[in-house]
Amino acid sequence: SAISRSIMTRVALNILTVIILLLSGCCDANRKLLVFLIDGFRYDYMDDLQNLAGFREIVDNGVKVDYLTPDFPSLSYPNYYSLMTGRYCEVHQMTGNYMWDKDTMKEFLIGTNPDSRLPMWWDGSEPLWVTMQKLGKRVYMYYWPGCEVTILGVRPTFCEEYVYNPSEKNLIDSMESALNMLKSDKADMAGIYYEKIDVEGHHFGPHSPEIQRAIRSLDQAFQTLNQKIKEKNMRDDINVVLFSDHGMTDLQWMEKVIELDNYIDMTHIIKMMDRGPVVSLWPKQDKFEEIYQNLSTVDNMNVYKKQEIPDRFHYKNGRFVSTLTLVAEPGWFITENKAKLPFWKNGTEEAEGWQHGWHGYDNEFMDMRGFFLAQGPDFKTNFRAGPIRTVDVYNVLCKTLGIEPLPNNGSWSRVECMMRSSAGAVRAALIYSCLLPLLLLLTL
Ligand SMILES: [Zn+2]
Repeated sequence: SAISRSIMTRVALNILTVIILLLSGCCDANRKLLVFLIDGFRYDYMDDLQNLAGFREIVDNGVKVDYLTPDFPSLSYPNYYSLMTGRYCEVHQMTGNYMWDKDTMKEFLIGTNPDSRLPMWWDGSEPLWVTMQKLGKRVYMYYWPGCEVTILGVRPTFCEEYVYNPSEKNLIDSMESALNMLKSDKADMAGIYYEKIDVEGHHFGPHSPEIQRAIRSLDQAFQTLNQKIKEKNMRDDINVVLFSDHGMTDLQWMEKVIELDNYIDMTHIIKMMDRGPVVSLWPKQDKFEEIYQNLSTVDNMNVYKKQEIPDRFHYKNGRFVSTLTLVAEPGWFITENKAKLPFWKNGTEEAEGWQHGWHGYDNEFMDMRGFFLAQGPDFKTNFRAGPIRTVDVYNVLCKTLGIEPLPNNGSWSRVECMMRSSAGAVRAALIYSCLLPLLLLLTL
């Protein structure tokens, strides 16, 4: 009877092991990931969930965080890279939409400028898609800024190159293609970029009927996405993560413009990059103190020497950070002179293209907050999580892909709560570690 008891125990152990392996998600490795980068989608744009069926379905089936705090500056390229590396701007080195390297005199300019593809802007950190490719996995990217660049010697398997403001049809076609590539096992991860929400936010402001219309049309696209995932029977095999790079705030043009040439002689400036909430200045060395003192008197903005930039911005140690950085108060816009703005009609007081929204300000400013949603087998359902930060997203993506994250600035404790498989694995491990000694005792 001792022998039969031993056999029974062994059978029980085997059954238990199988159950535990199933519980802990032994087959996670084959799960696919689809990510959406929705430029300029503020955290509260989806508040009217009653009228946004596509968003509502994702929220009901998955995870929603209260908001996503962007990295400083709350601009696109810096945050694109923080999202995909989990690192602060001063660590990954993509510190602006416009950058200047004083050694080579080369410029990085938002958009499709050839010099912006130079490795020096991108090689400061390894983005997720490069890590994936190095591991022999395949990444498909659609309009994603940077997918056309060879980073650390690597490009994604597929890149539909960025164009200004991809259309709704581009978005739907990308979704269809991405789902097919993931389903047919030609891709392990796909990323889709969409710009319209940011474009409309700039032109018409975050409270405009135009932005409402753009949000509703994006919602239509997400209804289509949900539909396609069901039709293709992919709900249990694909994680979908959606997020933005930053939010948007109202801008009142005529009233809140800071014109630098009222305070300093612009001929003393060697280089000025960008206009708006954050401006980078490289003054001539012998005029540096004078320029700094004059700018210190200007209302509604702060001027920082490189090492005086607040630590909490995680910005000042960036390789391309200028010797002086100007940061405007929310709603204010810094420029050299109004008349030199590209959207100003020559020689008149009339603006050609009104801009009613902007971003880039202090990343703790509420209006700069973005959104984060996730659904799929690795995520809890109907789960509301607290705020997270842009640098936290990378760890979530790595987890769902089953890859080891590179060292980063994200906090796992802020995102762990939203994951399902990790909680399941921990529970299974606990059960196993409690029951195993008992079973061993039985065998004696
Ligand atoms: Zn923008």
